Order: sequence, then C-alpha cells, then structure tokens
Amino acid sequence: MKEITAAEFNNDVLKAGKVVLDFYSTECPPCEALASKFEDLSKLYGNDIKFLKIYRQQNRDLADKLGVKSSPTLLFFDNGKEIGGRLSGGIKRSDIIQNLHLMLPDKRREEIKAKVKSSVSEYDVIILGAGPGGLTAGLYLCQSKINTVLVDIALPGGQVSTTHEVSNYPGFIEPQAGYMLSHNMSEQTKLCGTVYKVAVDITKVDLLNKEVVIDEYETIKAKKIVIATGTTPNTTGASGEKALKGKGISYCATCDAKYFDNKEVVVIGGGNSAVEESDFISRFASKVTIVHQFDKFTANKKAQEKIFANPKMNFIFNSEPRAFIKDGDKMVTEIENLITGERQKLISDGVFIFIGMKPNIDLFRDKLELDQWGYIISDENMKTSLSDIYAVGDVISKKYRQITTAVADGTIAAMAIAKELN
Ligand SMILES: Cc1cc2nc3c(=O)[nH]c(=O)nc-3n(C[C@H](O)[C@H](O)[C@H](O)COP(=O)(O)OP(=O)(O)OC[C@H]3O[C@@H](n4cnc5c(N)ncnc54)[C@H](O)[C@@H]3O)c2cc1C
Repeated sequence: MKEITAAEFNNDVLKAGKVVLDFYSTECPPCEALASKFEDLSKLYGNDIKFLKIYRQQNRDLADKLGVKSSPTLLFFDNGKEIGGRLSGGIKRSDIIQNLHLMLPDKRREEIKAKVKSSVSEYDVIILGAGPGGLTAGLYLCQSKINTVLVDIALPGGQVSTTHEVSNYPGFIEPQAGYMLSHNMSEQTKLCGTVYKVAVDITKVDLLNKEVVIDEYETIKAKKIVIATGTTPNTTGASGEKALKGKGISYCATCDAKYFDNKEVVVIGGGNSAVEESDFISRFASKVTIVHQFDKFTANKKAQEKIFANPKMNFIFNSEPRAFIKDGDKMVTEIENLITGERQKLISDGVFIFIGMKPNIDLFRDKLELDQWGYIISDENMKTSLSDIYAVGDVISKKYRQITTAVADGTIAAMAIAKELN
C-alpha cells in the first residue's frame, strides 16, 4: 500500500493498470473504520491490484476535479478508466471485494478467495449494535477493565446519528444535532479502549456458544453477549413503497428534508416521530400534508401544539396510503379514507414515512424469548432467557424507547456483567 499526492495521480493511477484509491481525511471516524479493512485487503489482493491512499485535505483540487465530496471515498481504476461504483461512508469489506473482483478473472478471484484465512479472537464481551444502548454498555464495561468489542453493521451512532435535533438528552441546555451527540458518545467509548468492528457483515450469531462471525472469515468469541441492535422503520405495505424507497420515499428527515426546499411533501404517520419530523421538514418544504390513520395524533401534546400552529401544515385524518406512484418528478400518494372508503390522490415532491419501528432480531429470532411484537424480553439486569446473553435499548420489550432509556439499559447490563465477571 502506498500514499500518493495529486502530482503522482497520472502515473500512479491512470497509467498503472488496476488501482484502488482511497481519498481519506483525518478526524474522520468512517476513514478510521475503513483503514484496517483496506490494509487487510491490500495484503490479499496487493499482487494484482495497487492499493493507494491520498490525503484529501492536502489534495483538494484533485478531489474536486474528480468530484470526490466526502471522506472516505474509494475509486477503482482499470487501465486509466474508472470502473464500478464509488464507495463512501461506512464502507463494507464485501462492497470493496465486489468492486475488486470486477478487475479480476474468475480463476484469480477463486485463488485469492482460497487464500483467505479465517481468524478467531476472544473477548470478555461482544456488544452487537453501537447505538446509545450499545455505546453506553461499551463505555461502562471498558471503564471496568473488561475486554469488550462493539460490532455494528453500520457506523457507530445508531438512530441518533440520523435524528436532526435532540432536545431531551440531559446535560445540554441547547438542542444538540443528533449526529454530534452520537459522535461524542462513540468517541468517548472508543477513547476508553473498546474495540470497534463497524460497517461489517454479520455472517452468523451463535448465542449458545457465544460466537459471532463477521465478514465470513472472522470469528469473535466471548463470555457474554449484549444485544443492542435497536429497531428499523416499519413500512406501510402500500404498493410501490419498496420500489420507491430512496427514489421519492424516505424514512429519515435529517437525511433528506434539505432536498425539499420550497417543495411539497406528504408525511405518513401521527406519533411523536411523524409530528416532530414534519415540523423539521417544514423548515424546508413549502407545504407538508400529514396523513394519519386515526382521528387524532398520538404524539405528545407539546409537539401537537407546535404542528397545529404551523401554517405550512395540512392534515388528513382517518386515512391510509394504498399506493405510491412516481409520475415524472412528482410522487403520487393514493390514500383511502377508512370511514368512507373514498380514495384520493395527493401529488407531492416527496413522501416521508414515520409509522413506528420493528426490532432488529432476525439473527436470533428463534433463540430468545420475545414479546408478542417480537421485542426481546429481558429482566431487571437486562438478562434474556439465555444465560450470559443480555439485551438493551429499543430492541427489548418496554414501554418507552428513548436515548435516555437506552443508555440506562446499557448501564445496567454493563454493571451486572462487570459484577459477574469480576
Ligand atoms: C426519527 C427519530 C427521532 C428520534 N428522536 C429522539 C429524541 O429526540 N430523543 C430521544 O431520546 N430519542 C429519540 N429517538 C429514539 C432514539 O433514537 C432511540 O430510542 C435510541 O437511538 C435507541 O438506541 P439503541 O442503542 O437501542 O438503538 P439504535 O439507536 O437503533 O442503534 C442500534 C444499532 O444496532 C445496529 N444493528 C442493527 N442490526 C444489527 C445487527 N444484526 N448486528 C449488529 N448491529 C446491528 C444498527 O446499525 C445501529 O447502529 C428518535 C428516533 C427516531 C427514529
């Protein structure tokens, strides 16, 4: 692996056959998450493909010329021609391999695959999920000198990292940007010494033997496992939703509201998330129409008062979406009135859906005791029905799901584990 500068780009990249180039920055957590994967893959593929790094801050003109807008960004070149899709953000090993394989014949791919050696590492505790619950458990365990690894399929932070503003996390007078709060939580836990394995594929979770396999080859064993995998947004089931996800339908106001400056938006839902996020979306959009299945919102009173006083808001109650259709640049949302059965079409520039969440338990669904909605049942020490397996945060059966309740669960699990292990 070699570090280059913009002056070397022509010779070392465009005239150098097969190349993968990493535009990285300092103080960049996703760049740190990528570094060990990049180094590891360079040892495996290094004879066939050149692995290069370039410091984006000091080579800004080249980055701009190539249209590189975030760090890290991986670019793949074959004989001077860029190939495959660019990768950025929380880059997974499997995504890099997919692009590397575009440059290699089948036989060579198989030869390299055969060289991959499986590895086994041992920790006291594996935490699955690096949201507030998992990060807090990681912090407390680390401060108790318990050897802990945090494993996440995405970058650390959990749902907070995509929440535009958090105004109810104690200790901050002013509302905090969600990404900053989650960044600070993550840095605090990492600085303590907890090992991070993030933006990985989880190949297997064996709760009975307390083993987790990531990226197909790396086995992690531990004495105890904490499940902190949180939840995923529910879908409406209306036709067209799946196909239009990310192409007109969004589940994240923080990520996408900014693209609706002076545009019209439809929001589906009526709980806290729907009402609060609609208010945020209205900072950008000229009109927000909230469609809710009941005759009144279930969001808290303060949020409702705010939204009813907002002149950009429109409300349609007792209605559910039946179909989402793309018509040129516009989104057509066909809704049905649940009382009259009448249907109408709402034309907008985009749709946001906030209709609750489902627990992320696919990898351990059959093994643990769950409540009727599929949330993991845990006791006052956050222990599940399996010995040495704990669960914390939004993934457990409980009444209130907030950052404060997730960090409280993480604290309890870590303290209970520390007591047992010590
Ligand atoms: C739009 C929105 C706004 C919100 N606003 C607020 C607010 O203002 N105040 C507040 O207190 N709460 C708010 N919440 C709720 C709050 O975000 C959650 O209660 C909190 O994030 C739960 O933390 P957690 O650690 O349990 O789960 P999460 O934050 O969901 O984190 C779970 C982590 O697990 C990872 N993961 C998933 N599956 C796997 C797997 N199989 N293996 C490994 N890792 C996995 C995910 O990538 C994620 O990083 C909001 C939620 C939403 C959706």
